Amino acid sequence: MTFAMIEVEQFGPVRRISHNRPEARNAESRQLLQELDEAVTEAVADDAVRVIVIAGKGDHFSAGHDLKEAQRERADFTVEQRWAFEEVHYYDYCLRIFNAPKPVIAQVQGACVAGAFMVANMCDIIIASEDAVFSDPVAHTLGAAAVEVLVHPWVLGHRKARELLYTGGRLSAAEAEKAGMVNHVVPRDQLEERTLALANKIAEAPPFALRLLKRSLNRSLEAQGFAIALAAHFDTHQLSHVSEAFKAARDKGLSTAIRKHGGD
Ligand code: ZN
Repeated sequence: MTFAMIEVEQFGPVRRISHNRPEARNAESRQLLQELDEAVTEAVADDAVRVIVIAGKGDHFSAGHDLKEAQRERADFTVEQRWAFEEVHYYDYCLRIFNAPKPVIAQVQGACVAGAFMVANMCDIIIASEDAVFSDPVAHTLGAAAVEVLVHPWVLGHRKARELLYTGGRLSAAEAEKAGMVNHVVPRDQLEERTLALANKIAEAPPFALRLLKRSLNRSLEAQGFAIALAAHFDTHQLSHVSEAFKAARDKGLSTAIRKHGGD
């Protein structure tokens, strides 16, 4: 399979899948998300891959969903069309990363905003460089009830998650590490090397043991209601897409709205 918007590299037992639209701050277009999903599926099926890394080429992990494309192709979607599109591209694709039967590490530098925040937080571990910045400003910028996958309280704790979402603010790499959302913060020039070192360390364990271990760890979240809470939020998020505030943001131009706030 050849890809146009992502890059796939193999380092021994580690498969690195990178967002690769640096000229567009790695904005996640429909095609990019589809390619990312296919690359994750291939990595899962390939016995030579023991650990998966999800990364971004260039200065940023990703600025989130491609809102210029959304404005162009999906601004007039009906409820039914938007539901179907977002369920596949924003929800199912994300959950497949969470449910991948191999450890997945997010390697994050620069902006990790909104849709990209969900992708990074579906991973088992996050390694960030010192310049990484995390945010989900869409309540402020688009009138949407956060992004489609409300993973924030699970990875940040309720207090930090509420503040981040209510203010539309940003978390620095250091703040994200302090909150337990990020495992390690490293200098930008050591990000790839430190991520691969950790991936290789994990890859020393037998794959079946890792697979069962991840299954149990995921189930410990599911026993607390993780899957049902995420599914319920997806429905609520869809309701926010038909609100007057969202329509007003759409009429002004989605990408303009979010740029004004310093997001995408
Ligand atoms: Zn949405």
